[in-house]
Amino acid sequence: MSGLDNKVGKLLRPEVLALSAYHVPDAKGYIKLDAMENPYSWPEDMVAEWLERLRGAEPNRYPDPACADLKAGLCQANGVPAGAELLLGNGSDEIIQIILMAVAGPEVTILAPEPTFVMYRQIAVSLGLRFVGVPLREADFGLDLDAMLAAIATHRPAVVFLAYPNNPTGNLFEAADIERILAAAPGLVVVDEAYAPYADASFMPRVLEFDNLVVMRTLSKLGLAGLRLGFLAGAGAWIGQFDKIRLPYNINVLTRISAEFALEKLPVLDGQVRCLLRDRAVLAASLAQFDGIRVYDSRANFILFKLLKHDAPQIFQALKAAGILVKNLHPAGGPLAQCLRVTVGTPEENQRFVEVLRALLG
Ligand code: PMP
Repeated sequence: MSGLDNKVGKLLRPEVLALSAYHVPDAKGYIKLDAMENPYSWPEDMVAEWLERLRGAEPNRYPDPACADLKAGLCQANGVPAGAELLLGNGSDEIIQIILMAVAGPEVTILAPEPTFVMYRQIAVSLGLRFVGVPLREADFGLDLDAMLAAIATHRPAVVFLAYPNNPTGNLFEAADIERILAAAPGLVVVDEAYAPYADASFMPRVLEFDNLVVMRTLSKLGLAGLRLGFLAGAGAWIGQFDKIRLPYNINVLTRISAEFALEKLPVLDGQVRCLLRDRAVLAASLAQFDGIRVYDSRANFILFKLLKHDAPQIFQALKAAGILVKNLHPAGGPLAQCLRVTVGTPEENQRFVEVLRALLG
């Protein structure tokens, strides 16, 4: 270890030193089916209109910290009930960080079923919080309600995260189970609806029905991942406090103008979502035909599958060598051993993926 590494190691908290950075592979030149992006760009006339709208941006000024029009548009487009308030984040990643900064302190526990979205654990640990992961049922990745309730009783978590649908498994937990968790949790329950456009199920209309529920969403999976805009809906009592921690200018002017514009063009984005839902079914059916693959039901824009007769890391590398990038979940181990996750792409991309996989599986 160098002298400087020693110095850094002495100064920083051990939990930070022990973290591994969130790894994003270089995807240049690949058919990119690894990151739950919408593969469709905007029609040319829409791009021209968008660029025209961006002329109104004033990059010399700080952005509008209130974003009232954007919030109103998001509420309308997402069925946020009257009386609920919104917190905006630089992606929902930042919302997770804001929530956890608000509860951070000694002996504070954060709880989520696992496997799930890795940033809940990553951010909790980076802030020095205790993170408890409760295993999902191995058979179908459903919630193990008894185990969840027992863990909640034992650990009294400040925050419970429930991804609905869950990433990387793609399934929706039972709404009745979530209600039981809401009733049992002593703290806040965050229902993370990142994949709402693909799920046809939501707690958003009921967000004010439970005094410990907040619902988080993002524009990323709808097709605006590059803009970085996530939001949290809930009672003003929660949102007002979280808003104090938000950095005042976290939503930059280009994001605000672009998101307002995109909300005016929702029919275009909804049309893309309809294509992806159709193609999710086609892709799942193609995968299900392969001998030696278990395909998990998906209510999101990706499909998890397990290789029963082949080695997932080898198939991942072979797909990559053929120019196709998917997510290799095998290193996570446990129930994700031998699992890969493929994002639904364009029909051509999906077809190419299926053809290459067919050749690899023999
Ligand atoms: N929640 C879940 C369940 C996710 O899968 C993701 C992205 N993979 C996010 C939140 C974060 O989304 P973003 O920061 O792009 O809003």
